[in-house]
Amino acid sequence: MNIHEYQAKALLRGFGAPVSDGRVVLRAEDAKTAAGEMDGPLWVVKAQIHAGGRGKGSFLEPEAGEKGGVRLARSVSEAAEFARQMLGRTLVTEQTGPAGKVVNRIYIEDGSDIARELYLALLIDRSTSRISFVASTEGGMSIEDVAHATPEKILTFSVDPASGLSDFHGRRIAFSLGLTGNSVKQCVALVKTLYKAFVEKDMDMLEINPLIVTPAGDLKCLDSKMSFDGNALYRHPDVAALRDETEEDPKELAASKFDLNYIALDGEIGCMVNGAGLAMATMDIIKLYGAEPANFLDVGGGATKEKVTEAFKIITSDPKVKGILVNIFGGIMRCDVIAEGVLAAVKEVGLKVPLVVRLEGTNVELGKEIIRNSGLDVIAGDNLSDAAQKIVKAVKG
Ligand code: ADP
Ligand code: MG
Repeated sequence: MNIHEYQAKALLRGFGAPVSDGRVVLRAEDAKTAAGEMDGPLWVVKAQIHAGGRGKGSFLEPEAGEKGGVRLARSVSEAAEFARQMLGRTLVTEQTGPAGKVVNRIYIEDGSDIARELYLALLIDRSTSRISFVASTEGGMSIEDVAHATPEKILTFSVDPASGLSDFHGRRIAFSLGLTGNSVKQCVALVKTLYKAFVEKDMDMLEINPLIVTPAGDLKCLDSKMSFDGNALYRHPDVAALRDETEEDPKELAASKFDLNYIALDGEIGCMVNGAGLAMATMDIIKLYGAEPANFLDVGGGATKEKVTEAFKIITSDPKVKGILVNIFGGIMRCDVIAEGVLAAVKEVGLKVPLVVRLEGTNVELGKEIIRNSGLDVIAGDNLSDAAQKIVKAVKG
């Protein structure tokens, strides 16, 4: 689960990390008061969306000004004016996709003097099963670009959970960032703070970009992107409360309410599969035969008729979907139960696109017979490869 920059900063402040003073604004008429609570002489007006690259982004509506979603203001009234221009507009950045995201919240922040912009992040490294640090002198730009053009400018290492984090790790980062004197001390403290916050709150990503050095040599977290392990949210009600559902894909949101593992993608073939591994294989084979999956969906081992119906509703609500492939392995679940679930779903939701069903496992013959006798226009797939070819052919002709 992702949260907004201002929420991430409030959380970091609670752990003692250096962040600027700021106010969140939901309505344009509150912007002036919020900006007036800070001294200036520089205010930074920042669009709050769950995507980075705001500074270099642009709005779909010209009234929002041609500059991006992070703007420097020289007075309280200018800050209020920028906030008014951005609220309710659609910001397009490198990370939002061409449709962009509507700005519903603005963060007005104290402006900082910047001597250097650095990069610092923590994330779960799945290959080592450890928390890794990523640090670079090239802050304020996308780390992917740095990794591509100048990989030697990135330091990365993981922390052994048995021995834990020590000052050594912080010093290693400080020296790789070219820090000296008091900045080194601040870096060591910050690294500790970020690590503590990361572990305590079950984050899976914490990115500070940029981490700045002020002309006086002080460190400050000027931007923060934070994401949390969804499976651990049950033990962090304070974090769960930060969820902003308007930032999420409505289909993914509906799926999460029914405990379905669903990720929206850009392709044309909707997939309903049980088991994450089989779902991945199904997406792969669709691509192999020349089409693109519209989603990842694992309905889980104990899929009920109700769950299958909900899954169908979500898949068919996507206007990009031109065909559906159901690929279910009946293990604990029996194929006849699944077949009945699929038919019930089709009857309730209706079917406007071709549907291929491939069943395998317990009671498979009975399951296939139920589908054959249903009178519905369902194409049966004999195996995974056959089913994938059939749905691609039905969609692409
Ligand atoms: P994004 O990564 O979405 O573009 P950032 O918060 O990183 O948004 O802001 C982009 C740039 O704007 C930063 O790299 C920094 O140069 C500048 N900036 C952001 N916040 C402040 C601030 N409080 N004071 C001064 N400059 C800022
Ligand atoms: Mg940034």
